[in-house]
Amino acid sequence: MMPITSNKATNYRLNREHPVILAYHGVTDTPTNGIVNFAGKHIKADVFREQMAYIKAHHTPVLLSDLQDRLRSGKIQGNLIVVTFDDGYENNFSVAWPILQELGVPATFFLSTGFIGGQRMFWVDQVEYIFNHTDVPSVQVDLPGHDNHCFELRSQRDRIHAVIMTKRVLKRMSPDERRSVLADIRRQAAVDLPADAPQPYACMSWNQINEMGADPLIEFGGHTVNHEILANLTPEDQRDEVLGAHEALKGVNSYRNLFAYPNGRSIDYNAATLQLMHELDYTCATSAEPGFVDLDDDLYQLSRVIVRANDNPHMRNTHAAHTFPFDMERVPVIEEDQQ
Ligand SMILES: [Zn+2]
Repeated sequence: MMPITSNKATNYRLNREHPVILAYHGVTDTPTNGIVNFAGKHIKADVFREQMAYIKAHHTPVLLSDLQDRLRSGKIQGNLIVVTFDDGYENNFSVAWPILQELGVPATFFLSTGFIGGQRMFWVDQVEYIFNHTDVPSVQVDLPGHDNHCFELRSQRDRIHAVIMTKRVLKRMSPDERRSVLADIRRQAAVDLPADAPQPYACMSWNQINEMGADPLIEFGGHTVNHEILANLTPEDQRDEVLGAHEALKGVNSYRNLFAYPNGRSIDYNAATLQLMHELDYTCATSAEPGFVDLDDDLYQLSRVIVRANDNPHMRNTHAAHTFPFDMERVPVIEEDQQ
């Protein structure tokens, strides 16, 4: 047989040896109102189905536990791809799972256990909810380390800007500081959070998780209890967050000692986090640093490609990273704000 010499073919061969781990959050089949889901965190069901069909036709989709075994044995050829979901949104069960079943695509779901079976909303979703529902024309926010900031809230564009800026600053605060600033914003905005988290913000129940866990296509991993960014916590608090999720999940069918760091950029976890992973016998962990996987990667810091479907006109400039199928020659760059 003739050796493959063309650039294109060589690149293709190289890429077949670089597995991709995709990171999703939600899949939705309900229309949005206002600025709900403006950053495309929950992608439309028909788009997700197309993506999964593409994966089935062009890749070898495997579970993360399968990929880690292959990484350990040095066998990662075959155009491997892993579908992962973070956080545990209800639509993972009601919308994404049926599509995965229909197409026979396995997926690994990372769960923040403090939200399972409850009515709580993630704080990032609370920010979006508050700025979407307020009737006040502006909010004065005291952000430590920043000047007092007055957010105009007259247009959708204003509201999106307020969400992005608030999330950016609150992500770098301690949980207590963040709760206090968020409570102040909510008071000024005069918005009550709903007793039950609405779609697409609602999370799965334990019954739904156990039902999914009986499917061999599905496995679960940890994603802390409260979705705290671990680098913001003391080592003791990090341990509570990681171990708490492990304890809550260890009786669940198809739970594996896999982990995904909340927010997931390299500044969002630290040496204490990595030490915990080893101590608690996690076998593999994923970040949200954009990239493909290579044989010599640290199994506790595997890069992922975050998938979003972004059709909000105010966010078009950031859309390039989310096109699908991916440009396999290029690692997409995702703004931190979009997580
Ligand atoms: Zn998350």
